[in-house]
Amino acid sequence: METGAAATGSRRLLRRLRDAMAGSGSAQQRLDEIVKIIAADMVAEVCSCYVMRAGEVLELFATEGLRREAVHRTRLRVGEGLVGAIAATARPLALADAQSHPDFAYRPETGEEIYHSLMGVPILRGGRVLGVLVVQNRTQRNYTEDEIEALQTIAMVLAELAAGGELVSPVELQPSNGIGLLPVRLDGIKLNAGLASGAAVLHERRVVIHQVVAEDPAAERKRLREAVAAMQSAIDDLLAQSDIAAGGEHRDILETYRMFAADRGWLQRMSDAVQSGLTAEAAVQKVQDETHARMTQVSDPYLRERLADLEDLTGRLQQHLSGRHQAAEADLPAEFVLIARNMGPAELLDYDRRRLKGLVLEEGSPTSHVAVVARALDIPVIGRVKDALAKVEAGDLVVVDADEQQVFVRPAEDIQQAVGARIEARLGRRLSYAALRDLPAETRCGTRLSLQLNAGLLLDLPYLDETGAEGVGLFRTELLFMLRHDFPSVGQQAASYRRVLEQAGDRPVTFRTLDIGGDKLLPYMSEIADENPAMGWRAIRIALDRPAMLRHQLRALLRAASGRRLKVMFPMIAETGELDQARGVLDLELERARARGGKLPEKIEVGVMFEVPSLLWELPALLGKIDFLSVGTNDLVQFLFAADRGNPRLAERYDALSLPVMRVLGEVVRACATAKVPLALCGEMAGQPLDAMALVGLGFRSLSMAPSSIGPVKAMIRSLEMAPLEGLLAELGNVPSRGWRGRMRNFAHDHGVLV
Ligand code: PEP
Ligand code: MG
Repeated sequence: METGAAATGSRRLLRRLRDAMAGSGSAQQRLDEIVKIIAADMVAEVCSCYVMRAGEVLELFATEGLRREAVHRTRLRVGEGLVGAIAATARPLALADAQSHPDFAYRPETGEEIYHSLMGVPILRGGRVLGVLVVQNRTQRNYTEDEIEALQTIAMVLAELAAGGELVSPVELQPSNGIGLLPVRLDGIKLNAGLASGAAVLHERRVVIHQVVAEDPAAERKRLREAVAAMQSAIDDLLAQSDIAAGGEHRDILETYRMFAADRGWLQRMSDAVQSGLTAEAAVQKVQDETHARMTQVSDPYLRERLADLEDLTGRLQQHLSGRHQAAEADLPAEFVLIARNMGPAELLDYDRRRLKGLVLEEGSPTSHVAVVARALDIPVIGRVKDALAKVEAGDLVVVDADEQQVFVRPAEDIQQAVGARIEARLGRRLSYAALRDLPAETRCGTRLSLQLNAGLLLDLPYLDETGAEGVGLFRTELLFMLRHDFPSVGQQAASYRRVLEQAGDRPVTFRTLDIGGDKLLPYMSEIADENPAMGWRAIRIALDRPAMLRHQLRALLRAASGRRLKVMFPMIAETGELDQARGVLDLELERARARGGKLPEKIEVGVMFEVPSLLWELPALLGKIDFLSVGTNDLVQFLFAADRGNPRLAERYDALSLPVMRVLGEVVRACATAKVPLALCGEMAGQPLDAMALVGLGFRSLSMAPSSIGPVKAMIRSLEMAPLEGLLAELGNVPSRGWRGRMRNFAHDHGVLV
């Protein structure tokens, strides 16, 4: 802890350094002055500044205390001597007796043999070593932690000078040849799966404002108006581009974005600022600053998303004001990874999609609009990567490993090779899965399975064709609701469902009624504040307590499916009575539709999700009332083990491949077979080849999963022989749960099952 006096002293020193940096004279003269100030302040006989030059060489640029003739002569390679070691490790070093250290490299021209103690810190900027700052003392001085920290703070100030391009030419500062860069691994959250690598492009729309106060307010108003008009028409052009013109949620998002560009409140605030005497640029900046300040306070994800859209627009407007609105495509690397604090959906589309390989965001959430658009473009995205912009330099090699939720910046050679091999392998696997597309999901012994898709957005529907899935086994309707800012009307819902059915063609779609609550909150329904949301007021519980909501949704589904087959299922049913009630609501809607003479669906099938264990003991009664049952293992397993499915601390603790889960699932299979009720499973388990193998062994014949799992699961099925698998499952009944996964893996290996 710094004492009050030390803090005051350090502020005073920083002020002096700042003044020296801003002073007149050449950069060299200012640096000479700075090392003098530091030496005096730190009570050191020596203060030296080494600056990184091309070829990983540290050159003595200024010194107080060492011989002056050594300046620009003494050079050390990174890793050479104590100074080189500090640069190589990017860590401070403090030694009371430097000369006895094995790394000490004596340079006679400096005359440093009389100084015994040494403290040095790296001069860092954006994770990059720009130089080393050193103080030395004659005596064997033990530098304190506070002193090291003080020198590190000073080095931060010096970094500005070193990065300014005045000491060494900006060309030498280019990181392209990896000078002084350290590999860094950054963690985040997966916003879109995948693996990619490329050169970093920093997404910064910052425009330096040279003039804040307007000379001629009327002229500024005109400039603002013209820039707004130019921006709006550029957005129209962007939307008209053929590959994004087709409908879908990304289209809806972009349309909303266009509406924002015409938002009167926003435009008014900027014009008010111009009115107050600011230039157009300063006015836009002011509104942007205010927006950003509000953004950091808002916790509501939907509002944050709206504010991010506005930020995107203000940045865009600045570009139009400055006349720099054309993205410099020619300057972009052939394959690049975009790094941004956050960005709006349209900004992403500004970049050439063929070259854009991955996206890293400091903010962002799975439902953020940019993530939804990136999914449509199949670009891997990692969000919530802290300080990404500070730690990555333009041109750095960046690997986005969204599957493992990590970003490698300037990765070492071995990581690059491993990643390259994984990218190749993924590509190879994709091709081999694509080759399976039209082949049946059939075991070697002839058992047929039906593989279906889990979907939630229109964007997912094209995967039906791409993967060869037989239908949509789970359509999570809540995602349509989560992306909106108000409750969709019956008409709007019906239009969305109709588009889903149209895109699915003659393949069946199982619509699940709204499953909100738990981890899925609607921005416009903030009244849910359960202490234990997963077991709280959610899904069918809300639907039955707010029947108007369910009625509207069922009305929309009946309307959308007129003349077709409608499959609808209710989530989180915990007792048969809840199904009866939900069915009652459906009957009311059917009656209403009939009374109005509307065309009804050709066939209606009603199903239930088996997610709450209590239902197990009501199965015979329940099965008599439904047309199909679908097991949601994500919730079922969380309730069986009383372990929150979203808690990373519990993620490894319980395994679905275990006696309790398999017993429950086995019972469900038997009950459905007896009642002749079609059974499916749509939890994440279905998409994991090894888990899916166990499910097939138990008797499941219909599995629904994420699009990317269809290929791997089909490959597993086509390499499987049923009889030995059933034998294994019979044996496992006596094995403790913890051994199950290993035994299954060994089995797959021994029998050539591709898992
Ligand atoms: C489940 O619980 O397994 C399921 C498929 O539903 P969700 O993941 O949407 O809760
Ligand atoms: Mg569920």
